[in-house]
This record gives sequence, C-alpha cells and structure tokens, in this order.
Amino acid sequence: MRYAGRSPAELRRSAFRSNKALRRVACGRSRCVGKRCCSLACGPVYAGAVPELPEVEIVARRATAALAGRRITSVSVVGFNALRSLDPPPGVLEGATVTEVQRRGKLLLLDTDGDHLLLIHLMTGGGMTWKAGKVNPRDRAMRVVVRFDDDDPPLRIRERGTRQAMWVRAIRRADLDAGEIAELAKLGPEAWWPDGAESNEQIAQIAAALDQPRPLHSLLRDNRSLAGVGRTWSDEILWAAHRSPYQRGSDLTVDERTAFAHLMRDVLEAALEHYERKIPAVPAEKLTKPVQVHGKVGEACPSCGATLRGVFFESHTIAYCPTEQTGGKVLKDRRLSRLGIEATVDED
Ligand SMILES: [Zn+2]
Repeated sequence: MRYAGRSPAELRRSAFRSNKALRRVACGRSRCVGKRCCSLACGPVYAGAVPELPEVEIVARRATAALAGRRITSVSVVGFNALRSLDPPPGVLEGATVTEVQRRGKLLLLDTDGDHLLLIHLMTGGGMTWKAGKVNPRDRAMRVVVRFDDDDPPLRIRERGTRQAMWVRAIRRADLDAGEIAELAKLGPEAWWPDGAESNEQIAQIAAALDQPRPLHSLLRDNRSLAGVGRTWSDEILWAAHRSPYQRGSDLTVDERTAFAHLMRDVLEAALEHYERKIPAVPAEKLTKPVQVHGKVGEACPSCGATLRGVFFESHTIAYCPTEQTGGKVLKDRRLSRLGIEATVDED
C-alpha cells in the first residue's frame, strides 16, 4: 500500500523530520512505542491496555472475592484530579464493611454495608490492585488508597501515563437507588449480561439501541447507547460479526440487530471465560487482552488469512478484515484524507 507514491514507512520517516502536523497523523501505531512516535501522535498512550467491560468485570469479580468482609478504615485520594466530588466526602466510607465490588458499564462500584458506596472510573490508564506490601508515599502514579482493618493489604488504584483522567467519588445509596447518579443514569444497556438474567429484554434493548443512523464502530463505543465497549472490543465484535465498521446500525434489520446482540454477548463472554482461566486472585494492574484483530493491522486475519487493514485516527486505529467485513473494499485512510492528500492503494 502506498500513499501519494510513498510507502507508509517512508512517509513516517520524512514526516517526523519535517512537519509537526504530518507527524501527528503519520503515526499509525495503535500502541505507544515511545517518545519519538507518541508524544504528539497517539493520544491515549495505552490504547491497547484500556480496561473495557471484560477487563473491568474480571477485576470486579476478583475484588469481590478478596475484599468482601473487610472493614474500611480510611480512603485517601492522593491525586487531586482523582477526586470528582466532595459531596459526600470519601471519608464517609470509613467504618463500613465491603460487601461486593460491582461493575456498571466500564465503572466499578465498591459496595458496603453502610449508606455509601465508592464509584470508580479507571478511564484509560487506571489499574487496581490489592497485593500485599507497603504503599510507597513517593509513588507518583498512586491515586487512591483504601485501607482496611487487621493490616489487610490496602486497595490501591494507580494510573499509568501522564494523563490524570481516572476518578473516584463517594455516592449515597439513596441517590443510587433513586437513579440519580448521573454517570450511571446515562449508560445504555449493558453489552454483556450474566447467564440467566433477563436475556430477551436485554436483547430487545440492545436491538433498539443499535437502531441509529450512525456507523456501528462509533455506536458501539458510545456508552450512552451501549455500556461497556471501547475501541478494543468494538474491533473484535465487528470482526466476529463480519460487519463493516462504517455500516450504519439502522441499516440492519431487526433480526440482524438481534443476531448482532447475541454475537456481541458471545464475544465478550469468551473474553471473560479466558480471563477466568488466566487471571489470578490478585490481577495485574494492566491485563493482556485476548484479541484477534485489534492492534494487529498488517498481520494475517486469523479467520481467512487476508491482511488486516486499519483506519487511522490521531488517537486510535480501527482494525478490520477487508475480505470478511467490507466486501474486499479498503477503507480510506482518514489521516491523509484530512490533510487533503489522496491515499492511493496498490493492491498486492
Ligand atoms: Zn478475514
């Protein structure tokens, strides 16, 4: 594939030397490879490690197993940006006992036997652990420390990268029960749900949510339409469904949207089964995702062997299989179109 007569590698080399604007768009990597490429180009630096529904779900399950029954003695929010609200202050959780850690979309909810809960959003770089060991007061990545009775290891939330985006806030149970927590109230239906839950109703809600004249890829990532899916799992779901990232949700029939909802659940369920086998009682802060196509542009499609293609944006790359998803069509390279450079594609 060549762009304006030059290979992507040639373009990147010359672009990095010469032009800042080009430098931003010429980076087609989906993961950070260091300063030279990413300080300007890649946006969320840890694109491949961002926790989405399956990652947050497995952390919630492991956290429940480890933390339920522990009495909270203190909640310290270290990073100033990490505390989203002082009403109520996080100290209200002190003295309560953890009952469960739940997941809502990509958010975590530390539930207690008291009147308050802790709402946690790890965003793009946050990670949670409760392994034994002291908290290093000089750890600049530390954002939140929840300490427990009996010298149980504290729950620590750290954040990779320079962006301070993750946040926590204490919420009142009464507000939660009344549906008045804004961050939760705006979430669409869950993209995955436990076995035995009201499957038909969930499927109908998802089918309705997909009925929008928007490209499926952006629709899936919009948590107000559908809760839990981000860049990784939208690539994976669309690949499994043999759907183009740019097909509009409303172009699917009701039956197709219903089938899509089932398949989406299956893809996420398979990821969860993988994590259940692989993730230990104390997970690492950053999980390796069991992906087939996301972040693998240029590699062979695991299903048909065709070369996986990408649509590149400043902050992320959509990966897809042209043979199975777009009827052989190679989608426009958005980086170059934006600059008014026509991408010329040599099929090899
Ligand atoms: Zn394929």
